[in-house]
Amino acid sequence: MLQGKVALVTGSTSGIGLGCAEALAAAGAKVMMNGSRDADAAEDLRAEVAARHGADIRYLAADAASGDAIRNLVAETEAAFGKVDILVNNAGIQHVAPIEDFPPDMWDRIMAINLSAVFHGTAAALPGMKARRWGRVINIASAHSLVASPFKSAYVSAKHGVLGFTKTAALEVAQHGITVNAICPGYVLTPLVEKQIPDTARARGITEEEVKRDVLLAAQPTKEFATVEQIGALTVFLSSDAGAAITGTGIPMDGGWTAQ
Ligand code: NAD
Repeated sequence: MLQGKVALVTGSTSGIGLGCAEALAAAGAKVMMNGSRDADAAEDLRAEVAARHGADIRYLAADAASGDAIRNLVAETEAAFGKVDILVNNAGIQHVAPIEDFPPDMWDRIMAINLSAVFHGTAAALPGMKARRWGRVINIASAHSLVASPFKSAYVSAKHGVLGFTKTAALEVAQHGITVNAICPGYVLTPLVEKQIPDTARARGITEEEVKRDVLLAAQPTKEFATVEQIGALTVFLSSDAGAAITGTGIPMDGGWTAQ
């Protein structure tokens, strides 16, 4: 379905980004993987994904906290593969604390990685997409782009910003053959979520099991976590020609959370 296309997925050494990279490779795209780990640590994973799909998969380290690094990542991917057709802005981090205790440097870091990197990556990829009159920007946003939860002020603010940016970018490039969308997952059991369970337990004074049952899945009427495979499949659909009329949206994949 995506033969001949080149995809760049930020933060694709783990969780949802890895799921998107796998799904895009399975659909025939060449994929540039990215993460903040060093090249040696990433090489095994890259080779594994490439072998699984018989696809041209490469890896470049880049720190999404730096706008310049993200712009360079797009430029280096264009240099390696000749173009970037599909940009999945996925890299993201979380920190859980009440506002009055929220470390200011963590607020800045979340804004840089979860929001500003989406701007920098998109800004760098659009000129090539415009020149070829084809492009897909897919931002991995969150149900927290649509609703809030306590103790996640920076994350919720950044993810609401991602949805606003998505709509703005979609309007700017609507007549250039480029779509820009956000996928808004509910809870997905990835390392990002597993790491926040102890913090949430501490902040709320409950056990980790209670966090899973009464906090995370309490929000999702299906009582099921969304999966990285489901998010990867939606990424492929949005990247396909069938997705050409979908732009400027935030698509919930949240088991009904934001329907409430
Ligand atoms: P994860 O922790 O499993 O993976 C995060 C990825 O981002 C990793 O590949 C990591 O290397 C990369 N990354 C982190 N900091 C980076 C940096 N400074 N520079 C470059 N890469 C960096 O997390 P995940 O759950 O897969 O989350 C991926 C995205 O999905 C995030 O934007 C997150 O906000 C979003 N999301 C996750 C959930 C969930 O429940 N897991 C729900 C909604 C949205």
